[in-house]
Amino acid sequence: MNSPTLIKCGDGCFAPSVATCVHIIEGTAKTVLPVRCEEGGEVEYDWYCPQCFDKYYLHNEDTFDVKDMRIVCIHCLRKIMRPYRKQMRRRLRSTNR
Ligand SMILES: [Zn+2]
Ligand SMILES: [Zn+2]
Repeated sequence: MNSPTLIKCGDGCFAPSVATCVHIIEGTAKTVLPVRCEEGGEVEYDWYCPQCFDKYYLHNEDTFDVKDMRIVCIHCLRKIMRPYRKQMRRRLRSTNR
């Protein structure tokens, strides 16, 4: 998602928002894929599972804001994605060639 906006989240602070999908939040995603955000934003990447990535970015479906996508703050995302941390590092390495 482009130009992240600030959202108010669990701890009551405003923080940059980031997009992800329910599969990552629920931990059912086996793989995570980074999607580069606009340059200059505070958030560098949104993260999706391969299915959602395909749906939203390859086929460019018009269903972007429906059921599987969630907007969370960067702090929550960090918590959500803790189990995926190793994989995220690996993905980012291969992305930033
Ligand atoms: Zn997904
Ligand atoms: Zn949060």
